[in-house]
Amino acid sequence: MQGVKVDLYDAMPSVGRKFLVAGRGGLNLTHGEPMETFRTRYRGPEMPEDCWVDWLTDFSPQEIRNWASGLGIETFQASSGRVYPKEMKAAPLLRRWVDRLRGLQVRFHMLHRLCKIEHDPLLRLHFKKNAGKDSAENMLDLFYVDSPDAVILALGGASWPITGSNGAWTSLLDHLGVNVPPLVAANCGWELDWPADLLDKIEGLPLKNCRASADGEYASGELMITRYGLEGGIIYTLGAALRRMQEPVIEIDLKPSAEIPELLRKMESVKRNLIAESRTRWRLSEQAHALLAWQAEMRGIEDPAHLAELVKHFPLSLRGPRPIAEAISSAGGIAWRDLTKSLSLQGAPAIFFAGEMIDWEAPTGGYLIQGCFATGRRAARSAMDYLRQKGLY
Ligand SMILES: Cc1cc2nc3c(=O)[nH]c(=O)nc-3n(C[C@H](O)[C@H](O)[C@H](O)COP(=O)(O)OP(=O)(O)OC[C@H]3O[C@@H](n4cnc5c(N)ncnc54)[C@H](O)[C@@H]3O)c2cc1C
Repeated sequence: MQGVKVDLYDAMPSVGRKFLVAGRGGLNLTHGEPMETFRTRYRGPEMPEDCWVDWLTDFSPQEIRNWASGLGIETFQASSGRVYPKEMKAAPLLRRWVDRLRGLQVRFHMLHRLCKIEHDPLLRLHFKKNAGKDSAENMLDLFYVDSPDAVILALGGASWPITGSNGAWTSLLDHLGVNVPPLVAANCGWELDWPADLLDKIEGLPLKNCRASADGEYASGELMITRYGLEGGIIYTLGAALRRMQEPVIEIDLKPSAEIPELLRKMESVKRNLIAESRTRWRLSEQAHALLAWQAEMRGIEDPAHLAELVKHFPLSLRGPRPIAEAISSAGGIAWRDLTKSLSLQGAPAIFFAGEMIDWEAPTGGYLIQGCFATGRRAARSAMDYLRQKGLY
């Protein structure tokens, strides 16, 4: 039987640039938690129920580890459950991956930016060559691929556009009638206006072991106080909830280890300097206490009950997310209603999609790369099935 010829086009001079950027944090490839929880990490408007169970079964977290191991890169699971290459680097894995693909006769065409897709009556892909360079616009820069048997698009989201995934593809799909909810920043910091004198005391400090909520969703972990607002696992996890709110507010439990009756008991003998006393009696970190004091003084709180209420439900109004260019990932993308279960485009069975360009999002923790690989495996298998059905393979 004849093999499949694969041509890989990318706008950048080399592939996998965002993968390399992910390597700066050690390359969190996947997560070791049980599948019942794992699959709940993925969300997206109108996402078909249980699709992730299917895809994560097809390409499981263990399979990512096996794949890396097959390329000579061993992985380990940290105590957090996150899985990394032992070397905590992306470059060796990417290099071996590309070498393997070259060995399998995959042809790489770098500096080819896809700029138009025609699919009726014939599929034609239009590329602009050297688009990554400052090239003059002339006919020599244009390049077509006529009637490919199948196409898998994995053009990424819109975060870190310097890596090549700038989200400009959304306009290519407009004229195909594809619904593309806007790409917005996910897994990113949020901005707020700190008073200058407060910021002097707390900038760069973490709020550790806290719990927070937004629009009925909860997250635990760490928040980092930055000049412009907040960063850290909690705010990333609550991003989707915050985006739903007209006036986004995060409510932080600055003392999750104690409930209000216990906090009140610890303040029973306090007659004066209530706010100052709360620091030691409630064992608050310097930064948690600075936040509490700021709001308590502003609100003129003078009794333990109100102060305890504030420490357990500390609200911060947020201005909005940080720019998408800084985000770890993006939400939005090809709408689920335009995709079939095999990840092909409704009405265009030879065009398949994978990765972050589809309208799903997931928290940090390895779920993003795992999601990209799992949808990539499904799109590739579906494309092979399609070729088989057409007698092309
Ligand atoms: C700082 C940072 C750290 C991260 N760390 C982690 C982590 O530790 N673990 C994790 O799971 N995830 C992490 N991620 C997220 C993860 O890297 C992405 O979710 C993943 O790379 C997305 O893969 P993708 O294939 O969908 O798109 P991308 O990796 O973005 O690839 C898209 C490709 O398409 C090309 N392209 C775009 N438009 C065109 C066009 N018109 N024509 C031709 N080519 C085009 C781009 O050049 C690019 O090569 C991190 C992301 C960032 C920014």
